[in-house]
Amino acid sequence: MKNYRILIGIIIAIAVVVIGTSDPAKNLYKATNLISNGIKVDEKKEDDKDIEVKDILVCIDPGHQEKGDSNSEPVAPGSYVKKARVSSGATGVATKKPEYILNLEASKVLKNILESKGYKVIMTRESHDVNISNSERAIFANNNKADMVVRIHADSLNNPSKTGASILIPAKESKYTTDIYEDSKVCANFIENKMKEAGIEVNGVFERNDLTGFNWSQVPVVLVEMGFLSNYNEDQMMSNPEYQNKLMKSISDGLEEYFTNK
Ligand SMILES: [Zn+2]
Repeated sequence: MKNYRILIGIIIAIAVVVIGTSDPAKNLYKATNLISNGIKVDEKKEDDKDIEVKDILVCIDPGHQEKGDSNSEPVAPGSYVKKARVSSGATGVATKKPEYILNLEASKVLKNILESKGYKVIMTRESHDVNISNSERAIFANNNKADMVVRIHADSLNNPSKTGASILIPAKESKYTTDIYEDSKVCANFIENKMKEAGIEVNGVFERNDLTGFNWSQVPVVLVEMGFLSNYNEDQMMSNPEYQNKLMKSISDGLEEYFTNK
């Protein structure tokens, strides 16, 4: 009788320990098969732990928005020259996809790649139904003290045979952007090289003094024109997830090279 009581005691003690150390939610998921349906909460947390978060902030600006705003704003601080606040962008000749949709699609891919490498990322927009002018986008990055701004766009021309990516940077000889020229240029060159290494056609790095989003920027900035929406083939390529990933990875690799050498 005494041995029987001790045995019961041991069983209760073991049960308390087992229940106490188990995760009821996880057991429920296991029992109901929810884990195989994608609810892998615990695994996700473990993945995140492996990423060493860097003290580097990248601001991604997915160009344009669903509805343009033709009201004007100064192209530079204190300038009398004005331009439309923001437009809705071009449209793919083959896909009929508006540029603002493609830009956000690609920007989200870039955001994921950068975050997986430990960079902090902010976005000027994460939906289409917004009204944020080009100067406001630049000011957003300034206020957040971004270490680099990447503006994602796609080109369009009347000439349907023109193809290739282009990288735009603020002009050296512009009084508004002298201070950010050098860093922007170095980063653009790294991105250009990584694109070429990945087999992406690149037209080069071009200085622009007429872009509101550059002139208002106090932090280094590059604008990547991913390719031409006006070219039937390239338009389709830019919407291909594999090509999109290759493009965004080369941008991320360029940024990584820039920050490593800084
Ligand atoms: Zn654009």
